[in-house]
Amino acid sequence: MTTAATTSHVFGEATLGEFEQGLRGQLIRPEDDAYDEARAIWNGAHDRRPALIARCAGVADVMRAVDFARSENLLVAVRGGGHSLPGFSTCDGGVVVDLSSMTGVRVDPARRTAIAEGGCTWADFDHETQAFGLAVTGGLVSTTGIAGFTLGGGIGWLMRKVGLTCDNLLAADVVTADGQLVHTSVDENPELLWGLRGGGGNFGIATSLEFRLHPIGPMLLAGPIFFAGDRAEEVLGFYRDWVRGLPDELTTLANLTTAPPAPFLPAAAHGKPIVAIVAVYAGDPEHGRALVQPLRNLGDPIADLLDVMPYTAMQSLLDALWTRGAHNYMRSAYIDHLTDEAIAATAARHRAVPSPHSEIHFHHFGGAVTRGAENSAFGDRSAQFVLNVIARSPDAEGFGANVAWARETAQALEPVSRDGAYVNFMGDAGDERLRASYGDATYDRLVALKRRYDPDNLFRLNQNITP
Ligand SMILES: Cc1cc2nc3c(=O)[nH]c(=O)nc-3n(C[C@H](O)[C@H](O)[C@H](O)COP(=O)(O)OP(=O)(O)OC[C@H]3O[C@@H](n4cnc5c(N)ncnc54)[C@H](O)[C@@H]3O)c2cc1C
Repeated sequence: MTTAATTSHVFGEATLGEFEQGLRGQLIRPEDDAYDEARAIWNGAHDRRPALIARCAGVADVMRAVDFARSENLLVAVRGGGHSLPGFSTCDGGVVVDLSSMTGVRVDPARRTAIAEGGCTWADFDHETQAFGLAVTGGLVSTTGIAGFTLGGGIGWLMRKVGLTCDNLLAADVVTADGQLVHTSVDENPELLWGLRGGGGNFGIATSLEFRLHPIGPMLLAGPIFFAGDRAEEVLGFYRDWVRGLPDELTTLANLTTAPPAPFLPAAAHGKPIVAIVAVYAGDPEHGRALVQPLRNLGDPIADLLDVMPYTAMQSLLDALWTRGAHNYMRSAYIDHLTDEAIAATAARHRAVPSPHSEIHFHHFGGAVTRGAENSAFGDRSAQFVLNVIARSPDAEGFGANVAWARETAQALEPVSRDGAYVNFMGDAGDERLRASYGDATYDRLVALKRRYDPDNLFRLNQNITP
């Protein structure tokens, strides 16, 4: 007897039954009630129908799922937090190896380390580590998965102080394409650790990741100051010059967006263009206050919410704006220098935004980010800013216009953009752009590593290093 899990793949019932019985977790098929919820990822623009979703309960399930996919010649999508913008964590007709139930975290406060399973979100991770006043650079939205985030690099509020998340990755357990579990650390399989620090999900499935932690908070100076959108050129011009002199403890972001109908913004501003400068000071809040005073001196903000708050509150401050299911598309670039012309172009693109959900971000890079280079595969650390242009709409309606706007906005900033980009913010890049993002030497070294751990490219739904 056979089961048509999709039109594209027919399984022997016995084969499937044997696979299912061998799992401690759950096998979800298209005919199951749980299927539609289980196949949905954060980015609603990717409506895919996998043949199977293996919701793994532990390492043994992951090994089994990899063996099964390989022997059945199935496409493999790996899901940690499900936040892939290009939709790499789902597929049509293949198997999703879903780690979202694997959320254990063990903190060692004395050593200042934490070992977290590959399905954790930043909310899971921060919850456990902040109980000891510890943290590592995490995502700006707490529902993002730690695994995909870390393996691609990891930029967040602590990066200028403690480095990218991948710089703090000390070790990992990885199920490789042959279904075996490999441990990697600086002493054991160190080349694999190098590759996991920025090379993405190319080399296998990280079932657990060990991080170095740092004393952070629990209270710190953090939050946004909002200015009227018609001041975009003035505010961005100030921002570009101001950040140059900032210490590593202060990480900031400029966000050109539309005021949401939120109670913390005056009703008169709702629906109007605004510029938010968001800052996090990873140190004594009073030192932070002195440092952000020049920003405050710009005067006449629409709202000033930059104040002392728990680190975990800052980590989830943006969650309500970035709920799952909406359609999203992102363009990203490294920016060398924000010229006056680039600032004017940005302000013009901000005025032309077709939806209140689409926005432009400039993350201020630098600080500790520039110091991790030799031990990781992460690409370009030397740019002053990371640009993100996000096209977003609640559903398919109007999404195309927002995508076109994002493309044109990225194009308008091409004169100040480098060729490559941060891999976690890229769409489906293609070999050339990926090579440019890593640089030739790193890219070639990643290809060699890929040939060693995944010569048949089983793990190819990612920013793919082709073997
Ligand atoms: C709302 C939102 C906010 C974001 N904010 C930030 C931010 O502040 N900073 C930043 O740097 N990035 C940010 N990102 C981008 C984010 O880093 C990537 O989307 C990342 O891939 C998400 O990881 P995930 O585990 O949730 O992804 P998933 O969609 O689950 O996986 C994406 C890919 O990562 C790989 N992967 C996932 N889990 C594993 C695993 N256990 N082992 C091996 N490979 C795995 C696979 O290749 C997979 O295809 C954000 C994305 C979103 C949608």
